[in-house]
Amino acid sequence: MEKVIIIGSGPAGHTAALYTARANLEPLVFEGHEPGGQLTLTTLVENFPGFPEGVMGPDLMEQMKQQAVRFGARYEPERVERVDLSRRPFVVVAAGGKTYETRTLIVATGASARWLGVPGEKELVGRGVSSCATCDGFFFKDREVIVVGGGDSAMEEAIFLTKFASKVTVVHRRDELRASKIMQRRAMENPKIEFVWNSVVERIHDPAEGKVTGVTLKDVRSGQTREFACDGVFIAIGHEPNTAFLGGQVELNPAGYIITRDGTRTSVPGVFACGDVQDPVYRQAITAAGSGCMAAIDAERFLEAEEDQ
Ligand code: NAP
Repeated sequence: MEKVIIIGSGPAGHTAALYTARANLEPLVFEGHEPGGQLTLTTLVENFPGFPEGVMGPDLMEQMKQQAVRFGARYEPERVERVDLSRRPFVVVAAGGKTYETRTLIVATGASARWLGVPGEKELVGRGVSSCATCDGFFFKDREVIVVGGGDSAMEEAIFLTKFASKVTVVHRRDELRASKIMQRRAMENPKIEFVWNSVVERIHDPAEGKVTGVTLKDVRSGQTREFACDGVFIAIGHEPNTAFLGGQVELNPAGYIITRDGTRTSVPGVFACGDVQDPVYRQAITAAGSGCMAAIDAERFLEAEEDQ
């Protein structure tokens, strides 16, 4: 039986692995279908402390993993299909069907960007379509881009992109933004940002050319469509926390994020959550890593308390 199983291998999972390994808990980490998590989809990370010149996202993740491995963390390159938290030890079933038992569980499965699901989108991801302005904005110097969404993320992405792009057009499906007033004001006061209201992107052009050349926009009130030329499409319509495998056994908030209380404790004693799967607000590599450390300490103390009893 394992003392601790960690599900997920982004900054939260790796940090939880490092700390539990150094506490001699010999953690077993399931890397999931996207080892390294969202940071492996980025290029240069310039806001992780300790790297004055920045660090490539995939390199940072590999170094975090090696640091945890050095202290005895074990990694399985597998996805977890489901868990049974109704009894102790908990049961973890990997995608290959193998079953594991564990005394504690740390959930660090992160969140995935939501996509529109329109023609052209999938084919052009990394070729003009992006879900991360911070990662890819740099490539759009003096180009025209659109940002899809009306929340704080969309405003933040649009404002950030004005550092590079010559023009940023926010396309929103309603005539009112969901974003906070202060973010709305900042975006609206920015001379490089324009808004297209009541509109959705119906198609992204042009996969045949291997790059973004424009989009088809549809006015949701009149149903009329029109072509709109642009060089980049940033999708900022929110994130989806990766909790499906929990099968409703842990309490979630209405947006689907795991609710943590008193540090990283979930509604199930012995199950801890860290990183983006429980954080709809900050969602940074450094905050995920910090909460991974907290989850490791919480799990260690939980096991100690149990042994004392
Ligand atoms: P969000 O608040 O859920 O906003 C998502 C936006 O995308 C909404 O405007 C929504 O439209 C739109 N949308 C959703 N699905 C769509 C679809 N299929 N097609 C077109 N549009 C679609 O998500 P978020 O902006 O990522 O923010 C998440 C949380 O993080 C929020 O609590 C936010 O305040 C916080 N956050 C804060 C900051 C900051 O304070 N600096 C920065 C980023 C995020 P509707 O409005 O019509 O639903």
